[in-house]
Amino acid sequence: MSNAEDHFKNVISHSKEYGFIFQSSEIYDGLSAVYDYGQNGAELKKNLRDYWWKAMVQLHDNIVGIDAAIFMHPTTWKASGHVDAFNDPLIDNKDSKKRYRADVLIEEHVAKIEDKIRKEVEKAAKRFENFDQKLFLQTNPRVVEYAEKINSINSRFKKAMEDGNLDEVKQIILDLEIVCPISGTRNWTDVRQFNLMFATQLGSVSDESSTIYLRPETAQGIFVNFLNVQKTGRMKIPFGIAQTGKAFRNEIVARQFIFRMREFEQMEMQYFVKPGTEMESYEYWKNARMRWHQSLGFGENRYRFHNHLKLAHYANAACDIEFEFPFGFKELEGIHSRTDFDLKNHEEFSGKKLRFFDPETKESYIPYVVETSVGLDRLFLATLATALKTEKIEDGSERTVLNLPHALAPVKVAVLPLVNKDGLPELAQKIVDELKFDYQVQCEEKDTIGKRYRRQDAIGTPLCITIDHQAIEDGTVTIRERDSMTQERVPLNAIKKIVDERVSLSSLLKKL
Ligand code: ATP
Repeated sequence: MSNAEDHFKNVISHSKEYGFIFQSSEIYDGLSAVYDYGQNGAELKKNLRDYWWKAMVQLHDNIVGIDAAIFMHPTTWKASGHVDAFNDPLIDNKDSKKRYRADVLIEEHVAKIEDKIRKEVEKAAKRFENFDQKLFLQTNPRVVEYAEKINSINSRFKKAMEDGNLDEVKQIILDLEIVCPISGTRNWTDVRQFNLMFATQLGSVSDESSTIYLRPETAQGIFVNFLNVQKTGRMKIPFGIAQTGKAFRNEIVARQFIFRMREFEQMEMQYFVKPGTEMESYEYWKNARMRWHQSLGFGENRYRFHNHLKLAHYANAACDIEFEFPFGFKELEGIHSRTDFDLKNHEEFSGKKLRFFDPETKESYIPYVVETSVGLDRLFLATLATALKTEKIEDGSERTVLNLPHALAPVKVAVLPLVNKDGLPELAQKIVDELKFDYQVQCEEKDTIGKRYRRQDAIGTPLCITIDHQAIEDGTVTIRERDSMTQERVPLNAIKKIVDERVSLSSLLKKL
C-alpha cells in the first residue's frame, strides 16, 4: 500500500477516534456516502465556515449573505436546467458489477496523458539550462502528439455530450481501451443518463404537481432572491450575494470518504456584474479565492488551477481550484462565469423582470454572474488530511498532532491543573471563565500531564495552559504551544491578550 493510501486510512480512523466524523446512523451499519460530524468535527467545520463567511461578507462592503430554504418552487429547477440536464452519464462494468461515471473515466484517461506531458517538461527543464517551456510545448514531437490526442478526445467527448449521443460516449471508452480498475476488463454496458436530484412530495397528495426537490446546489436560492436583496439592500452593481448551506445529490459513484457525499454543504457567492465586465471579475475572484485557500498555510504547491476545456452551456469561462488530496489533485472549488443564463431563464419561467436599473446611465439590464462555489466538506477533508501528522519527538517517542491553523482548531485552549487539589482546579476554572465567552475552552483534570498533552495535540489544540503550585504562589502559569511544544511562563493577567493574539480568527483574516 502506498504512503498516501496509508495516510488516507489514518485520516479516516483518526476522524472517528477523535470525534471529528462518524458514519451516518452507524448503529444500523451506516448509510452510504452520508456522514455526521462529531463534537470536534462540528467545531472545525463551523470555524472553516466562519472564516469563509467573514472573508467574503464581512471584508467586502458590496457582498451580503442570505439563508434561503432548501425546498424551492419546482419550476426553479426547470428554469435552472436541472430537471432536464443535471445528469451523470453512467456505465457499468459487467464483470466487476461496478458503476462508473463515463465522463470521469474519460477525464482520468486524459489526466494520465497530461501527466506524461508534465513529466516530459520536467525532464527537459532539468536537461537544458535556458529551457523555454512554451517553445518546448509547441515543438517537441512527443508532447505535440500527446496534446493533439488530448484535444481530439476532448472535442469528441464534448460533441457526444452536446448531441446527447451516449453510444458515442461508450465508443470513446472502447476506443481508448479504458479498463475497469477492479476487474481489469473492457466488458462495459451501454451508457445511461441518471438525474442526480432527490425528489420528494409536498403535502399529503402525491401527484406529479406536488413533486419537489432537495436542492442540488445553493446558487438558485440566490438567483431567485436577486431582486429582493438588490432592492431592500439598495445594492449597486457590482455586488455579491453569499450563502452557505446543505445541498443534495444522488451521487452514484460515492467514494473517498467525505469527498463525494449525497448530502453536503456548499459555500457559494454569486457576483452580479455589468455585461462585458465579467472577465475582469472572473480573474479577480480566481485570484482572490486562491489567496484565501493559500492563507491556510498548507503549501502553495498543493493547489493548482484547472481550466475547463468543455464549458457548461451557460458558462463563458470556468476553472476549478484543485487541491492535492491523498488520492491526487481533485476539485475543491469551482469558479464560473455564468453569463446571464440563470437570471434570464428565471425571468422567462416566472414572468417577472429580474433586471438592474442603473440610475446613472438610465440603463436597465440583466446582470452577468461570476460564481465562486466551494464544498465545505471537501475543504474539511483537505484541512484534516494536511494537518494530520505523526512525528518523532525529542524523547524518541512518537506523537500524533493536528497542525491546524490555530484559529480553526476545535478547542482553542486547554486548561490543565497539574493535580486535582490545593486550589489548582479552582484557578483553572477561573481561567476558563475568563476565556469561555470568546473561545472554545476545555478543562482537563484526568491522567498524567503527558497524556493530556497528547490528547490535545491529536485534536489540534494550539495552546495548553498548565496550572502548577507555583501558579498559586506567584500568579504565573505555563503556556505550551502545540507545534513547537515550547513552554513559557506568563502572569495570569497576560493570558487573555496572548490567546487573542495567537488564536483569534481576526489574526488569520488580517493576513488576507
Ligand atoms: P464534481 O465534478 O467533483 O462532481 P461538480 O463540478 O459537480 O463536482 P459543482 O457543482 O461545481 O461541483 O459544486 C461546487 C463544489 O461543491 C465543488 O467544487 C465541491 O467542492 C462541492 N461538491 C460538489 N459535489 C459534491 C459532493 N457530492 N460531495 C461533497 N462536495 C461536493
